[in-house]
Amino acid sequence: MTTAIRYAYVHVPFCRHRCGYCDFTLVAGRDDLIDRYLMALEQELTRVVQPLSIDTLYLGGGTPSHLGPDGLRQLFALLTRRLQPAAGAEVTIEANPLDVTPAFVAAVSDCGVTRVSLGAQSLAADTLANLDRDHCPADVRRATERLLTQGFTVSVDLMTAAPGQNLAAVERDLEAITALGSQHVSVYCLTWEQGTAFASQRRRGLLQPVPEETERAMFELAIDRLSEAEFEHYEVSNFARPSGRCRHNEAYWDCQPWEAFGPGAARFDGRTRTTNHRSTTTWMNRLLAGEDATGEVDSMTPEEAARERLVVGLRRRAGVSRDRFAAASGFSIEQLAGEPVAGWVAAGLAEDDGQTLRLTRAGLLVSDSLWAAVL
Ligand code: SF4
Repeated sequence: MTTAIRYAYVHVPFCRHRCGYCDFTLVAGRDDLIDRYLMALEQELTRVVQPLSIDTLYLGGGTPSHLGPDGLRQLFALLTRRLQPAAGAEVTIEANPLDVTPAFVAAVSDCGVTRVSLGAQSLAADTLANLDRDHCPADVRRATERLLTQGFTVSVDLMTAAPGQNLAAVERDLEAITALGSQHVSVYCLTWEQGTAFASQRRRGLLQPVPEETERAMFELAIDRLSEAEFEHYEVSNFARPSGRCRHNEAYWDCQPWEAFGPGAARFDGRTRTTNHRSTTTWMNRLLAGEDATGEVDSMTPEEAARERLVVGLRRRAGVSRDRFAAASGFSIEQLAGEPVAGWVAAGLAEDDGQTLRLTRAGLLVSDSLWAAVL
């Protein structure tokens, strides 16, 4: 363990129910496991021998807010023994809008949270129902207002290409979301993950994906409307008003080393990614038996690490500075991906002024299909 690590992620794997599209590491309707989870987390945190002074702490899930005000106070009490937010640190918690009660707001304020990421997904009742969500548009509005009034930075997730959604519905959602006053919006297109209820309903013809051209048009609409509302598009899926960027994710995209705790959580030391066991119960049982809870270890060669650095860097709108990339990775972009990059520039998918390589809007729209040539 190195004290140079300044970023930490904690996975809280509890949800009220599992949404039909979700394949995250979590247990739904198993609140009986919360005490054991906290004990296992305390055990895992003993890996940190010297308390770490950290610049960002991110609680994701699952739904961390599902622990409730008392559970969150317990969680932070044990986290901050080993992970100590430095002055001015960004401390984020993901929350279901339904959980954002006055007692929740008081608890997270006492615990030093500075930023709340709301799993809103939509502000249309029919889209929320189609996405299997348990909150309604009024819950999102109430939660955002409550948090902004108390001085939190608020991020709102928006889902596009939901079943039954058309371009006009996305337009209405964008109008409603930009009116909320949040400092940050993340836009994700629904993906049909294997093993989810949605994937099986799709196989049986009960759900239909949105056509690919509509999906792209929805994303372009999001870029346009959010830019008009003074959100800076700073990463493929992320938009921020001034000072609203997520510093924690920026550290990921800079390939900084980070710590991570909880089932399925992946930590990174600059070269090796170590992922905990994805099963919440296996992770807990192993730790409570004094065993190692590692699931997978992915050790990259310097070249593999450099290729990954290039891909995550290109997800950012600012692109990749050739000099900084070479200094950080030990490789030039030409060495790793000269040919594909030249092809992207020729096709209008990227622009290159000799110093910085960045994707164009056309490139962003197909970015997922570009990475295989680099990796
Ligand atoms: S609330 Fe979020 S994490 Fe929980 S099941 Fe739904 S999508 Fe997955």
